[in-house]
Amino acid sequence: MQIRISAKAKINLGLDVLNRRPDGYHNIRTVMQTVTLCDDLIFSESSEKGIRLFSDSQAVPLNESNLIWKAAQLMINEFSLTKGIFIRLEKNIPVAAGLAGGSTDAAATLSAVNRLFSLELDDRALAGLGARLGADVPFCIYGGTMLAEGIGELLTPLPPLQGCPVIIGKPKVSVSTRMAYESLDLSSLEHPDMAAILSSIQKEDPTLLPLHPGNVFAPGVIKMFPVIENIIGKMEELGSFCSQMSGSGPSVFGLFPDRRSAEQACSNLSVTFPDSEFHLAFLG
Ligand code: ATP
Repeated sequence: MQIRISAKAKINLGLDVLNRRPDGYHNIRTVMQTVTLCDDLIFSESSEKGIRLFSDSQAVPLNESNLIWKAAQLMINEFSLTKGIFIRLEKNIPVAAGLAGGSTDAAATLSAVNRLFSLELDDRALAGLGARLGADVPFCIYGGTMLAEGIGELLTPLPPLQGCPVIIGKPKVSVSTRMAYESLDLSSLEHPDMAAILSSIQKEDPTLLPLHPGNVFAPGVIKMFPVIENIIGKMEELGSFCSQMSGSGPSVFGLFPDRRSAEQACSNLSVTFPDSEFHLAFLG
C-alpha cells in the first residue's frame, strides 16, 4: 500500500510574545493559518526494517535529524512496528522560513504512518504525539485557523478562513528562531492588536485584519534584513490588504482581494526582487 499526503505550510495572522517562562521558552499568542503551499510526501511499507527517506531537495537533511524521520521513528517505537517505512519527500515549502515546513512534514508523517499501519489513532492522539516533536506539530495535524497559546501547543479552533489568495515571499536570508527571540526587547515590544485580529476572524472577513503591527518579531528581524520591509511595502503597493512577516521570519505573506490581482502582484514581485522566491497560494 502507498499513501500520498500533502503537508500544508502555515502563516501567522498576528504573532505576539507575552513573556519568558522559567523554563526558557516564551508564552506566545498567535493565529495560525494553513495555506495551500505544501510539501508532497509518499509513504509505503518496506519489508526491510528501519526508515528510508528520499528527496530531490538538497535543502533538508535526509537522515535522523529530519523531522520526518523523527516522526516515523516515534511511531515505530511507540507502536512496536516491525516493518520498515519508505518515504519520498517533494519539498516545496521554503526551509527555515517561518512557515513550519518541518513541523507540517512531521504531522503528515504521523498521519500517514497511522493510516499505513491501520493504527486507528484520532487527531487528538496524533496531536499528543506531535507535541513531543515540536510546538507547531499539533496545529499542523488539524490545520485550518486556530488561536495558539502557551508555547504554541494550546489550540482553540476559530472559524476557518478559506480561499483568500495569498502570496508567500521568501527573501534569500536565513533567520533562526533563536536569532529572532534574541532580537526581541521584551520591555518595549509593539504588541499586535490580537483582539482586532480575532474579531476579523470571528466575522470571517480577512479584509478587516489590522495592518500594523502584526508580528512582534518583525521590527528586530527587519533591522537585520531590511528587504523584508521592502517586500511588505511592495505587496501593499500592489494591492495587498494585509502583509506581514510570518513566524520568526524571514517569510512575508500578503493577502489579496482576488486571484487576478494576486497573480499580477506575484509576477511583479518576482521581477522586483529577483533574489527572493514568491509563491501564489490560498488560505485553507
Ligand atoms: P517554524 O515556523 O515551525 O519555526 P520554520 O519554517 O522556520 O519552522 P523549518 O522549515 O521547519 O523552519 O526548518 C527549521 C530547521 O529544521 C532547518 O534547519 C531544517 O534543516 C530542519 N528540518 C528538519 N527536518 C525538516 C523538514 N522535513 N523540512 C524542513 N526543515 C527540516
